[in-house]
Amino acid sequence: MENQQEQEYEYEYLGLMQIGYLLDKKAEELEEENYDGNEEIIVKTYEEASEICGYWAHGLALYYENQHYIIPFIEKQYLITIEHSDNVKPILNFADFYKNEKCSSKMIEYLELAIEKYQDSEAMIQLAAFYSTSDLHDYVKEYYFMAIERCKSVPMKKQFLEQRKLFWNENIKLIKYIDDYNWEKDNDIYRKLLSNGRTDDRINIYNNKIRLFTKLNNIMECGICYEIELNIDLKCGHCVCCNCYIITNDDPCPFCRIK
Ligand SMILES: [Zn+2]
Ligand SMILES: [Zn+2]
Repeated sequence: MENQQEQEYEYEYLGLMQIGYLLDKKAEELEEENYDGNEEIIVKTYEEASEICGYWAHGLALYYENQHYIIPFIEKQYLITIEHSDNVKPILNFADFYKNEKCSSKMIEYLELAIEKYQDSEAMIQLAAFYSTSDLHDYVKEYYFMAIERCKSVPMKKQFLEQRKLFWNENIKLIKYIDDYNWEKDNDIYRKLLSNGRTDDRINIYNNKIRLFTKLNNIMECGICYEIELNIDLKCGHCVCCNCYIITNDDPCPFCRIK
């Protein structure tokens, strides 16, 4: 009997969430239609959704953000969303909001929260990238490495392929970062990064290309970004700089379209 009651409660809860979801979708559709005079209905629909569950305040937060509403208004909706949410998305969006507002301390606060609550690798990578612009090398290393360890723990299954790709990209970025700044290479982080090549061929291939083309002194203008740097070859034989190699990997060659 007790079980049945619990179940009924759960169904009711699920039903309400479903209504919240539908209202949120409806508001999104109205937003897409984008004709004048819609604002009031859009806000009202989002509000109805968020009254059902605070999670749906996310739609309102994003809407206010797009409409350049006043900041405390947006912050309030994000805080409600985060309080009622069980996933990392609104926290990352909130951090992104502060990034656009050029408020670094708040951005850091929410990226750290995403790491603390969800061990989110994207937040780790964003923090590493942020600290690299202010030359705080120890933090850069710490966060890239954290992300790599995190991504490595992701299973090699189809639904996780994006994260595997991220792992590979970040691994190479960190090796390049260490090379660029001539950091001490005889350390655990570097050894671990290189040893990741054993579990992922692409890291090995990249490292071998760097070694070979450095020997060949293949420094030239990159056909993508026009920087004069060390160029390495793609599968088709065309050459690009290391940064563009990392970015374009898995895409067809930008010059001849061979994959
Ligand atoms: Zn380039
Ligand atoms: Zn090509």
